[in-house]
Amino acid sequence: MRKCKLCEKEAMVFFRSHRIALCKDCIKTFVERRVERTIRSYKLMSKGERILVAVSGGKDSLVLWQILTNLGYEADGMFIDLGIPEFSEVSWEKCEKIAQKLSRKLFKVKLEDYFGTNLINIAKIERREPCAFCGMVKRYIMNQRAISEGYQVVATGHHLDDETSVLLGNVLNWQVDYLRRQGPNLEESDGFVRKVKPLALCSEDEIKSYAEASEIDHVEGSCPLSKGATSHFYKSIINQIEERMPGTKLRFYKEFLKAKKEIFMENKSVKLMPCSRCGYPTTAGICAFCRLIDRVKTRIQLFQERTQFGEEP
Ligand SMILES: [Zn+2]
Ligand SMILES: [Zn+2]
Repeated sequence: MRKCKLCEKEAMVFFRSHRIALCKDCIKTFVERRVERTIRSYKLMSKGERILVAVSGGKDSLVLWQILTNLGYEADGMFIDLGIPEFSEVSWEKCEKIAQKLSRKLFKVKLEDYFGTNLINIAKIERREPCAFCGMVKRYIMNQRAISEGYQVVATGHHLDDETSVLLGNVLNWQVDYLRRQGPNLEESDGFVRKVKPLALCSEDEIKSYAEASEIDHVEGSCPLSKGATSHFYKSIINQIEERMPGTKLRFYKEFLKAKKEIFMENKSVKLMPCSRCGYPTTAGICAFCRLIDRVKTRIQLFQERTQFGEEP
Protein backbone atom coordinates (compact mmCIF):
# COMPACT_ATOMS: atom_id res chain seq x y z
CA MET A 1 0.00 0.00 0.00
CA ARG A 2 1.28 3.39 -1.02
CA LYS A 3 1.47 6.23 1.49
CA CYS A 4 0.52 9.84 0.87
CA LYS A 5 3.64 11.88 0.25
CA LEU A 6 2.33 14.86 2.20
CA CYS A 7 0.82 13.27 5.32
CA GLU A 8 1.71 9.53 5.24
CA LYS A 9 -1.92 8.38 5.38
CA GLU A 10 -3.13 5.74 2.92
CA ALA A 11 -2.89 7.12 -0.63
CA MET A 12 -5.94 7.22 -2.89
CA VAL A 13 -4.17 8.15 -6.15
CA PHE A 14 -0.77 8.25 -7.78
CA PHE A 15 -0.17 11.05 -10.28
CA ARG A 16 2.44 9.67 -12.67
CA SER A 17 3.48 12.93 -14.29
CA HIS A 18 4.34 14.38 -10.86
CA ARG A 19 5.42 11.02 -9.38
CA ILE A 20 3.39 11.71 -6.26
CA ALA A 21 0.98 9.58 -4.18
CA LEU A 22 -1.75 11.44 -2.34
CA CYS A 23 -4.55 10.71 0.13
CA LYS A 24 -8.10 11.97 -0.20
CA ASP A 25 -7.48 15.20 1.73
CA CYS A 26 -4.12 16.01 0.20
CA ILE A 27 -5.46 15.66 -3.38
CA LYS A 28 -7.55 18.74 -2.68
CA THR A 29 -4.62 20.69 -1.25
CA PHE A 30 -2.37 19.62 -4.12
CA VAL A 31 -4.78 20.61 -6.90
CA GLU A 32 -5.78 23.88 -5.22
CA ARG A 33 -2.14 24.88 -4.83
CA ARG A 34 -1.48 24.15 -8.48
CA VAL A 35 -4.45 26.29 -9.51
CA GLU A 36 -3.29 29.09 -7.26
CA ARG A 37 0.18 28.94 -8.81
CA THR A 38 -1.29 28.99 -12.32
CA ILE A 39 -3.35 32.06 -11.44
CA ARG A 40 -0.26 33.82 -10.10
CA SER A 41 2.21 32.83 -12.85
CA TYR A 42 -0.06 33.88 -15.69
CA LYS A 43 -1.64 36.82 -13.82
CA LEU A 44 -5.15 35.47 -14.45
CA MET A 45 -7.06 37.48 -11.85
CA SER A 46 -6.89 39.13 -8.47
CA LYS A 47 -8.94 38.79 -5.31
CA GLY A 48 -11.07 41.91 -5.65
CA GLU A 49 -12.26 41.20 -9.19
CA ARG A 50 -15.74 39.89 -10.04
CA ILE A 51 -15.43 36.55 -11.81
CA LEU A 52 -18.05 34.70 -13.81
CA VAL A 53 -17.48 30.95 -14.13
CA ALA A 54 -18.98 29.22 -17.17
CA VAL A 55 -20.59 26.15 -15.60
CA SER A 56 -21.95 23.23 -17.59
CA GLY A 57 -22.76 20.69 -14.88
CA GLY A 58 -19.70 18.61 -15.83
CA LYS A 59 -16.90 17.96 -13.38
CA ASP A 60 -14.39 20.44 -14.83
CA SER A 61 -16.39 23.63 -14.45
CA LEU A 62 -17.87 22.62 -11.09
CA VAL A 63 -14.43 21.76 -9.72
CA LEU A 64 -13.17 25.13 -10.97
CA TRP A 65 -16.02 26.97 -9.24
CA GLN A 66 -15.37 25.24 -5.94
CA ILE A 67 -11.60 25.79 -6.08
CA LEU A 68 -11.93 29.49 -6.86
CA THR A 69 -14.37 29.88 -3.99
CA ASN A 70 -12.11 27.94 -1.61
CA LEU A 71 -9.18 30.12 -2.63
CA GLY A 72 -11.17 33.23 -1.72
CA TYR A 73 -12.15 34.56 -5.15
CA GLU A 74 -15.50 36.27 -5.83
CA ALA A 75 -16.83 33.79 -8.37
CA ASP A 76 -20.44 33.41 -9.53
CA GLY A 77 -21.77 30.88 -12.04
CA MET A 78 -23.38 31.18 -15.46
CA PHE A 79 -25.17 28.25 -17.09
CA ILE A 80 -26.10 28.28 -20.77
CA ASP A 81 -29.12 26.09 -21.47
CA LEU A 82 -28.56 24.54 -24.90
CA GLY A 83 -31.98 22.88 -24.83
CA ILE A 84 -30.69 19.32 -25.20
CA PRO A 85 -33.53 17.11 -23.92
CA GLU A 86 -32.83 15.61 -20.49
CA PHE A 87 -29.07 16.40 -20.61
CA SER A 88 -29.59 20.15 -20.19
CA GLU A 89 -32.09 19.71 -17.36
CA VAL A 90 -29.89 17.31 -15.41
CA SER A 91 -26.88 19.56 -15.97
CA TRP A 92 -28.75 22.56 -14.62
CA GLU A 93 -29.69 20.65 -11.46
CA LYS A 94 -26.05 19.83 -10.75
CA CYS A 95 -25.11 23.48 -11.11
CA GLU A 96 -27.91 24.57 -8.79
CA LYS A 97 -26.80 22.08 -6.20
CA ILE A 98 -23.22 23.34 -6.05
CA ALA A 99 -24.32 26.98 -6.15
CA GLN A 100 -26.21 26.28 -2.94
CA LYS A 101 -23.27 24.50 -1.38
CA LEU A 102 -20.94 27.39 -2.21
CA SER A 103 -23.59 30.06 -1.45
CA ARG A 104 -22.86 31.85 -4.74
CA LYS A 105 -25.10 33.40 -7.35
CA LEU A 106 -26.00 31.30 -10.43
CA PHE A 107 -27.36 32.72 -13.69
CA LYS A 108 -29.12 30.80 -16.45
CA VAL A 109 -29.40 31.85 -20.10
CA LYS A 110 -31.36 29.94 -22.72
CA LEU A 111 -30.05 29.53 -26.24
CA GLU A 112 -33.66 29.60 -27.35
CA ASP A 113 -33.97 33.23 -26.24
CA TYR A 114 -31.41 34.14 -28.90
CA PHE A 115 -32.27 31.77 -31.75
CA GLY A 116 -35.85 30.76 -31.15
CA THR A 117 -34.80 27.12 -31.09
CA ASN A 118 -32.31 24.71 -29.48
CA LEU A 119 -28.79 23.63 -30.43
CA ILE A 120 -29.90 20.43 -32.16
CA ASN A 121 -32.19 22.29 -34.54
CA ILE A 122 -29.58 24.94 -35.24
CA ALA A 123 -27.18 22.14 -36.22
CA LYS A 124 -29.77 20.69 -38.60
CA ILE A 125 -30.38 24.07 -40.16
CA GLU A 126 -26.67 24.73 -40.49
CA ARG A 127 -25.99 21.17 -41.69
CA ARG A 128 -22.97 21.12 -39.40
CA GLU A 129 -21.89 19.23 -36.30
CA PRO A 130 -23.09 21.13 -33.19
CA CYS A 131 -19.50 21.32 -31.86
CA ALA A 132 -18.51 23.33 -34.94
CA PHE A 133 -20.29 26.43 -33.65
CA CYS A 134 -21.29 25.60 -30.04
CA GLY A 135 -18.02 27.00 -28.68
CA MET A 136 -18.39 30.28 -30.60
CA VAL A 137 -21.98 30.66 -29.41
CA LYS A 138 -21.08 29.99 -25.77
CA ARG A 139 -18.13 32.40 -25.86
CA TYR A 140 -20.35 35.12 -27.29
CA ILE A 141 -23.08 34.70 -24.71
CA MET A 142 -20.64 34.45 -21.78
CA ASN A 143 -18.88 37.62 -22.89
CA GLN A 144 -22.09 39.54 -23.41
CA ARG A 145 -23.61 38.53 -20.07
CA ALA A 146 -20.39 39.13 -18.17
CA ILE A 147 -20.32 42.69 -19.48
CA SER A 148 -24.00 43.36 -18.80
CA GLU A 149 -23.82 41.93 -15.26
CA GLY A 150 -20.63 43.82 -14.41
CA TYR A 151 -18.05 41.01 -14.28
CA GLN A 152 -14.43 41.64 -15.26
CA VAL A 153 -13.36 38.07 -15.88
CA VAL A 154 -14.88 34.95 -17.46
CA ALA A 155 -13.32 31.71 -16.18
CA THR A 156 -13.76 28.38 -17.96
CA GLY A 157 -12.97 24.84 -16.82
CA HIS A 158 -10.62 23.95 -19.69
CA HIS A 159 -7.86 21.69 -18.37
CA LEU A 160 -4.52 20.43 -19.60
CA ASP A 161 -6.06 17.66 -21.73
CA ASP A 162 -8.35 20.18 -23.46
CA GLU A 163 -5.54 22.64 -24.00
CA THR A 164 -3.03 20.13 -25.34
CA SER A 165 -5.52 18.49 -27.70
CA VAL A 166 -6.46 21.91 -29.09
CA LEU A 167 -2.77 22.74 -29.36
CA LEU A 168 -2.12 19.54 -31.27
CA GLY A 169 -4.95 20.34 -33.68
CA ASN A 170 -3.71 23.90 -34.14
CA VAL A 171 -0.19 22.67 -34.87
CA LEU A 172 -1.32 19.92 -37.25
CA ASN A 173 -3.26 22.48 -39.26
CA TRP A 174 -0.85 25.37 -38.62
CA GLN A 175 -3.60 27.65 -37.40
CA VAL A 176 -1.31 30.60 -36.77
CA ASP A 177 -3.99 32.97 -35.52
CA TYR A 178 -5.39 30.40 -33.10
CA LEU A 179 -1.89 29.59 -31.88
CA ARG A 180 -1.21 33.27 -31.25
CA ARG A 181 -4.24 33.55 -29.01
CA GLN A 182 -4.06 30.15 -27.31
CA GLY A 183 -3.14 30.21 -23.62
CA PRO A 184 -4.58 30.37 -20.12
CA ASN A 185 -5.07 34.14 -20.25
CA LEU A 186 -6.74 36.07 -23.03
CA GLU A 187 -6.45 39.69 -21.95
CA GLU A 188 -9.42 42.05 -22.09
CA SER A 189 -9.68 44.36 -25.09
CA ASP A 190 -12.37 46.52 -26.68
CA GLY A 191 -15.65 44.63 -26.38
CA PHE A 192 -14.13 41.62 -24.62
CA VAL A 193 -13.75 40.81 -20.95
CA ARG A 194 -10.66 38.86 -19.89
CA LYS A 195 -10.97 35.09 -20.40
CA VAL A 196 -8.99 32.77 -18.18
CA LYS A 197 -8.43 29.03 -17.74
CA PRO A 198 -7.19 28.45 -14.19
CA LEU A 199 -7.19 24.64 -14.64
CA ALA A 200 -4.94 24.81 -17.70
CA LEU A 201 -2.04 23.08 -15.95
CA CYS A 202 -4.15 20.38 -14.26
CA SER A 203 -4.74 17.14 -16.14
CA GLU A 204 -8.19 15.63 -16.49
CA ASP A 205 -7.14 12.82 -14.14
CA GLU A 206 -6.22 15.28 -11.43
CA ILE A 207 -9.55 17.06 -11.78
CA LYS A 208 -11.44 13.78 -11.72
CA SER A 209 -9.66 12.83 -8.49
CA TYR A 210 -10.43 16.23 -7.01
CA ALA A 211 -14.13 15.85 -7.89
CA GLU A 212 -14.19 12.42 -6.24
CA ALA A 213 -12.29 13.54 -3.16
CA SER A 214 -14.61 16.51 -2.63
CA GLU A 215 -17.72 14.52 -3.55
CA ILE A 216 -18.84 16.98 -6.21
CA ASP A 217 -22.04 15.77 -7.83
CA HIS A 218 -21.72 16.27 -11.60
CA VAL A 219 -22.95 15.04 -14.98
CA GLU A 220 -20.96 12.04 -16.22
CA GLY A 221 -19.21 12.04 -19.57
CA SER A 222 -19.04 14.71 -22.23
CA CYS A 223 -21.88 16.37 -24.11
CA PRO A 224 -24.01 13.76 -25.94
CA LEU A 225 -23.78 15.81 -29.13
CA SER A 226 -19.97 15.68 -29.21
CA LYS A 227 -19.69 11.95 -30.04
CA GLY A 228 -17.10 11.36 -32.73
CA ALA A 229 -15.68 14.88 -32.43
CA THR A 230 -12.09 15.29 -33.60
CA SER A 231 -11.14 16.72 -30.21
CA HIS A 232 -11.84 13.32 -28.59
CA PHE A 233 -9.49 11.69 -31.07
CA TYR A 234 -6.71 14.19 -30.41
CA LYS A 235 -7.16 13.65 -26.68
CA SER A 236 -6.73 9.91 -27.00
CA ILE A 237 -3.57 10.41 -29.09
CA ILE A 238 -2.09 12.81 -26.53
CA ASN A 239 -2.90 10.39 -23.73
CA GLN A 240 -1.20 7.52 -25.57
CA ILE A 241 1.94 9.65 -25.74
CA GLU A 242 1.55 10.56 -22.06
CA GLU A 243 1.21 6.88 -21.18
CA ARG A 244 4.58 6.11 -22.78
CA MET A 245 6.28 9.30 -21.58
CA PRO A 246 4.65 10.70 -18.43
CA GLY A 247 4.97 14.48 -18.17
CA THR A 248 4.80 15.09 -21.94
CA LYS A 249 1.42 16.82 -21.82
CA LEU A 250 2.51 19.37 -19.28
CA ARG A 251 5.81 19.98 -21.07
CA PHE A 252 4.15 20.31 -24.49
CA TYR A 253 1.85 23.03 -23.17
CA LYS A 254 4.20 24.95 -20.90
CA GLU A 255 7.02 25.03 -23.44
CA PHE A 256 4.57 26.22 -26.07
CA LEU A 257 3.57 29.13 -23.85
CA LYS A 258 7.23 30.04 -23.43
CA ALA A 259 8.08 29.65 -27.11
CA LYS A 260 5.02 31.61 -28.15
CA LYS A 261 6.49 34.88 -26.96
CA GLU A 262 9.42 34.52 -29.36
CA ILE A 263 7.49 33.05 -32.27
CA PHE A 264 4.94 35.86 -32.30
CA MET A 265 7.20 38.76 -31.39
CA GLU A 266 6.12 41.02 -34.23
CA ASN A 267 2.53 40.74 -33.03
CA LYS A 268 0.75 41.18 -36.34
CA SER A 269 -2.69 40.42 -34.98
CA VAL A 270 -5.81 40.92 -37.08
CA LYS A 271 -7.73 44.17 -36.70
CA LEU A 272 -11.14 43.75 -35.09
CA MET A 273 -14.09 46.06 -35.72
CA PRO A 274 -17.42 46.21 -33.87
CA CYS A 275 -20.21 44.13 -35.49
CA SER A 276 -22.49 46.57 -37.29
CA ARG A 277 -25.49 45.00 -35.62
CA CYS A 278 -24.56 44.12 -32.04
CA GLY A 279 -21.16 45.72 -31.46
CA TYR A 280 -19.25 42.48 -30.75
CA PRO A 281 -15.69 42.69 -32.04
CA THR A 282 -15.35 40.88 -35.38
CA THR A 283 -13.20 40.70 -38.50
CA ALA A 284 -16.29 40.76 -40.75
CA GLY A 285 -18.94 43.50 -40.95
CA ILE A 286 -21.55 41.39 -39.17
CA CYS A 287 -20.22 38.93 -36.58
CA ALA A 288 -20.48 35.13 -36.88
CA PHE A 289 -23.08 35.01 -34.08
CA CYS A 290 -25.45 37.49 -35.74
CA ARG A 291 -25.03 35.77 -39.11
CA LEU A 292 -25.95 32.45 -37.50
CA ILE A 293 -29.08 34.02 -35.97
CA ASP A 294 -30.09 35.30 -39.43
CA ARG A 295 -29.68 31.92 -41.07
CA VAL A 296 -31.55 30.08 -38.32
CA LYS A 297 -34.43 32.53 -38.21
CA THR A 298 -34.83 32.58 -41.99
CA ARG A 299 -35.00 28.81 -42.08
CA ILE A 300 -37.50 28.61 -39.22
CA GLN A 301 -39.71 31.17 -40.91
CA LEU A 302 -39.50 29.37 -44.23
CA PHE A 303 -40.39 26.12 -42.57
CA GLN A 304 -43.32 27.59 -40.69
CA GLU A 305 -44.68 29.12 -43.86
CA ARG A 306 -44.47 25.76 -45.55
CA THR A 307 -46.03 23.61 -42.85
CA GLN A 308 -48.02 26.22 -40.94
CA PHE A 309 -47.22 25.23 -37.38
CA GLY A 310 -45.61 22.04 -36.74
CA GLU A 311 -42.82 19.65 -36.32
CA GLU A 312 -39.28 20.74 -35.82
CA PRO A 313 -37.40 22.06 -38.87
ZN1 LIG B 1 -2.28 13.12 2.74
ZN1 LIG C 1 -23.08 40.65 -33.97
